[in-house]
Amino acid sequence: MGTKAKRLVVANWKMNPKSDKEALALFKELAEGLKDLKEVDVVVCPSFLHIPAIVYSGKGRNLQLGAQNMFWEEKGAFTGEVSPAQLSGFGVKYVILGHSERRKIGETDEIIAKKVRAALDVGFTPILCIGETLDDRNSGEWSNRLNFQLRCGLENVRREEMGNVAILYEPFWAVGTSRACGAKEARETRLFAEDSIGGFYNDPNISKDINSLYGGSVTSKNAGSYVKEAGYNGLLVGGASLDPKEFIKIIKAVA
Ligand code: PEP
Repeated sequence: MGTKAKRLVVANWKMNPKSDKEALALFKELAEGLKDLKEVDVVVCPSFLHIPAIVYSGKGRNLQLGAQNMFWEEKGAFTGEVSPAQLSGFGVKYVILGHSERRKIGETDEIIAKKVRAALDVGFTPILCIGETLDDRNSGEWSNRLNFQLRCGLENVRREEMGNVAILYEPFWAVGTSRACGAKEARETRLFAEDSIGGFYNDPNISKDINSLYGGSVTSKNAGSYVKEAGYNGLLVGGASLDPKEFIKIIKAVA
């Protein structure tokens, strides 16, 4: 059985920065600012294009590398895709899967499930994103939506592998909007998700093995509340991870 990670904070740089030079400068500033921090695993997910420059720079051994997506096949005729094996060759250890920005452009639960399996097979920690729309939240449909996404996303995952998966709750309405989810709602949702997973595996004690993360408009002001009040094991940070000073403050808030 896998073990629950230390506190985990993930930076999702999305389609930023615009050049290797900018990506390296940002990465180096983070590495320097976090060199004495031991209590938190920090994962940086740059664009695929910037991963080689970061790796070849030899900087930031205190940080881990993640990818924002990947394909599920190992190699072959899949134009425009990037495989788990290719990423693994660069020392990537984590991959964000099923992000709401990808679901919005057509990534299905079935595709996500294949990617989760492929990530585990190559030894990555898949960060499985789940989240509901504002309509789902307001109508009470959110729990069915999340249950469905979890059931599909974990379809090919064995119970003993759950310690190697991170579950990221990111309400669609909170991603990149400055409208963060309140700690109380976030807590209720975490408990619901962990309970649902316990149901799938028929194991009410499974929560001790689940890495539950929160994402959606995290700042240094609200970061601590998701860990201390809502009980999450860590965070995924988008916009604020592009500002190294703010991102370091976020990490320190959850340490
Ligand atoms: C994200 O990238 O998934 C995200 C949550 O972005 P932001 O922190 O900007 O809301």
